[in-house]
Amino acid sequence: MTEAKEAGCYWWAEAPPQTSEDGRWSSQADIAIIGCGFAGLSAAITLARAGRQVTIFEKEAIGFGASTRNGGITSGNIRYNRAQLAQRFGHAKADSFIDEAVAARATLYQFIKREKIACDFQLHGRLVGMSKPFEKAAIEAENIAFATRYNIAPRLIETEELQSYIGSSAYRAGLFRPDIGGIHPAKLLHEKRRLALAAGVTIHSHCAVKNITRKGAGFDIETSKGRIHAEHLISATNGYTDKAQPWLRKRLVPVISEIIVTEKLGSNFVKSLMPKRSMFGEDKEVGFYYRPTPDGQRILLGGRRMHKQDAVAQARLHQGLAGIFPELEGSKIEHYWAGNVVFPFDQMPKLAVHDGIIYPTGFCGSGTVWAHWLGRKAALMILANPEINNANEAADNPQAPASNFAEMPMRTLPFYSGKPWFMPLAMSYYRLRDRLAGGRY
Ligand SMILES: Cc1cc2nc3c(=O)[nH]c(=O)nc-3n(C[C@H](O)[C@H](O)[C@H](O)COP(=O)(O)OP(=O)(O)OC[C@H]3O[C@@H](n4cnc5c(N)ncnc54)[C@H](O)[C@@H]3O)c2cc1C
Repeated sequence: MTEAKEAGCYWWAEAPPQTSEDGRWSSQADIAIIGCGFAGLSAAITLARAGRQVTIFEKEAIGFGASTRNGGITSGNIRYNRAQLAQRFGHAKADSFIDEAVAARATLYQFIKREKIACDFQLHGRLVGMSKPFEKAAIEAENIAFATRYNIAPRLIETEELQSYIGSSAYRAGLFRPDIGGIHPAKLLHEKRRLALAAGVTIHSHCAVKNITRKGAGFDIETSKGRIHAEHLISATNGYTDKAQPWLRKRLVPVISEIIVTEKLGSNFVKSLMPKRSMFGEDKEVGFYYRPTPDGQRILLGGRRMHKQDAVAQARLHQGLAGIFPELEGSKIEHYWAGNVVFPFDQMPKLAVHDGIIYPTGFCGSGTVWAHWLGRKAALMILANPEINNANEAADNPQAPASNFAEMPMRTLPFYSGKPWFMPLAMSYYRLRDRLAGGRY
């Protein structure tokens, strides 16, 4: 195996992080937003288009965070399937979570189309490769129920037909969802930035929020470039939340996810492995996600970080790729990078409100859809109810744009302050569960 000759994010080659050119500083804003990723930009676009004065503070360059480092798969997943959601929340609530996930993904697609966003969007479906034993009748019944409710038909793909979806014998079967696709995440981010600037949003890059104090109905915000007072505050820092926000940090578990991209393999070769040019996932606790690059020339594969040294981590991903496609054992890896995804303790996305600050957060590795949706919901919360004190209040307001994720508490653990010392243990536990469940590991 040959490991990355040039480390670095594949997406950044075409759409690198950028410094803001907007030097204007105002000590006053209607709404301040911390973090210039998908979530912060969605909130900003919605608010600015509604005539509000919006300022975004980004600690690093614009496009530094997870939004440009991800796999670009529009998964919009919830970590739990319908049966698990029903067990925890009841059947009606389980359906409403899934309704919202379907609506969130469709909204992203409408946004891309309506705004003519150039982000290499390709709706080729996603196949989840299944290694574990499964109950065919139960999956087919669930597929029928899903198709009836949403007019989207997932399919269980088995035996010979599987070869027309993936050139691999790694899986017993696959679950195909036609409504999931791929984007170029860094292009999407910079397109959203373009729309935000056009709507009048001020973006300060390399400007870290250092301290937040509640002042009257608003907030005094101390940044590395100066102070500002804002009537409303949205925090969209997610996996990059730092010590300036101790309440949020204590409620989120950041996890490193990392990605490799192969050398150019040629479109025919890639097509022989991925005949439908779809996205891929696995039915494991700590499985891989993978896809062709938008030009169809290379393969990208990502997974959770298991090793501290980059070289070992990269080699693990390459082994994973070769485990699925043995033909790629000797291929060169040209790009390798990592980024932070973030999980609340209950592993459900959140639109939390605490002490007046709105937090669209906790997307559990599926923020391409969720950050867009919940960032926008955060903005709608402000537009519908300027006196927001808690999420339930806004959700109860008939004018307020309710989200199922606005009603959920955000818990923490005693003595936890944001450093997930327990992650190696948790990863070992999840890997053990994968092994016990059977299949290829
Ligand atoms: C390797 C990887 C692969 C992934 N793959 C997928 C995928 O295929 N599909 C999918 O749906 N999701 C995926 N995700 C998850 C997805 O990228 C994220 O959920 C989503 O981008 C989060 O967007 P965001 O706007 O909330 O946060 P981010 O884009 O991370 O933005 C947060 C920003 O806040 C800034 N910030 C932090 N603290 C401060 C401060 N004090 N002051 C000012 N600014 C601050 C940070 O610098 C950062 O730029 C992946 C993530 C990673 C890392």
